[in-house]
Amino acid sequence: MISGLYAYLVGVASERKYRIMTIAKEDLEEIRAGLIDRRNKLLEMAKNQLKSDISLDRNEMADENDLASSEYLLSFELRIRDREKYLLRKIEDALERMDTDEYGVCESCGEDISVPRLKARPVTTMCIRCKEEQERKEKEYLDN
Ligand SMILES: [Zn+2]
Repeated sequence: MISGLYAYLVGVASERKYRIMTIAKEDLEEIRAGLIDRRNKLLEMAKNQLKSDISLDRNEMADENDLASSEYLLSFELRIRDREKYLLRKIEDALERMDTDEYGVCESCGEDISVPRLKARPVTTMCIRCKEEQERKEKEYLDN
């Protein structure tokens, strides 16, 4: 086992499936705290955005689809920018994976994602190898 890290056995829902997590508990907690902090900031930003949008939108409302307009004002969820919404979703997913001990496992090859990578990109779901492979394929696709 890599020194400085300790591994612990984690039982997952399926009784047959155990895996050794090589991410230290304190690293995991550090990443979790960072994610929660980022989520709170995003929500705060979205709230402020919402406040300023409501005053701006009074004039634009006529252009909006009338059916949607009342919901449009009421629904906080809808008002969050797509990019922020996407990021929030990724953060929620990562926190969820921490709770179910699936965090840090590459969704593509099932290998552990390295701790430095997780610290740099806490919402990632792929190890660097698979990510590069995916980006290479995407690039090929775009180039054709
Ligand atoms: Zn992988």
